[in-house]
Amino acid sequence: MTVLPIREMGDPVLREEARAVTSEELAGEEVQRLIDDMIETMRAADGAGLAAPQVGVPLRIAVIEVRAGNPRYPYKPPIPLTVIVNPELTMLDGATFATNEGCLSMPNVRGDLERFENVGVRYLDRDGEVHEETRRGLTAGTFQHEVDHLDGILFVDRMTDMSSLSTWEEFERHGKADFVARIEALVARVGS
Ligand code: ZN
Repeated sequence: MTVLPIREMGDPVLREEARAVTSEELAGEEVQRLIDDMIETMRAADGAGLAAPQVGVPLRIAVIEVRAGNPRYPYKPPIPLTVIVNPELTMLDGATFATNEGCLSMPNVRGDLERFENVGVRYLDRDGEVHEETRRGLTAGTFQHEVDHLDGILFVDRMTDMSSLSTWEEFERHGKADFVARIEALVARVGS
């Protein structure tokens, strides 16, 4: 497995709509190797997720994982490794929550935005099996962030209050305590 270079904001591949993966491609060695490399790259960067466009490949594939004690996102509930291919999200109701995100493609930038609290997600796993799941809270936010990447959308596009943009260091200093208290209340309420 190889740690791939992560594309950063300004790279046009991050603004393209990625295309669906065919079942032949998914079963093939090239896409399987890409998925392995994306997992390795996400873990090496302590990311909570990584979408194929972030390694320069405009295909509808993302990997998501939060391991306990992730130093980048210590407040996130754990998410087992999940490979999502051709994902489709539906919002289950209009409920939203205020969150704060960062992105491996936007080094040292964080900001506040709203995400849907409850989403249905349908996707293929790396073996081509169909999964239909409900994801809630911060985990729902992570899925929305990754699926946005497949549509050429970065989290800053979803921000309404640009004055909340911060570096990671200033977020730690000024924003984190309030944010973590809010998120802990969300996790207690929705379970993830
Ligand atoms: Zn991202």
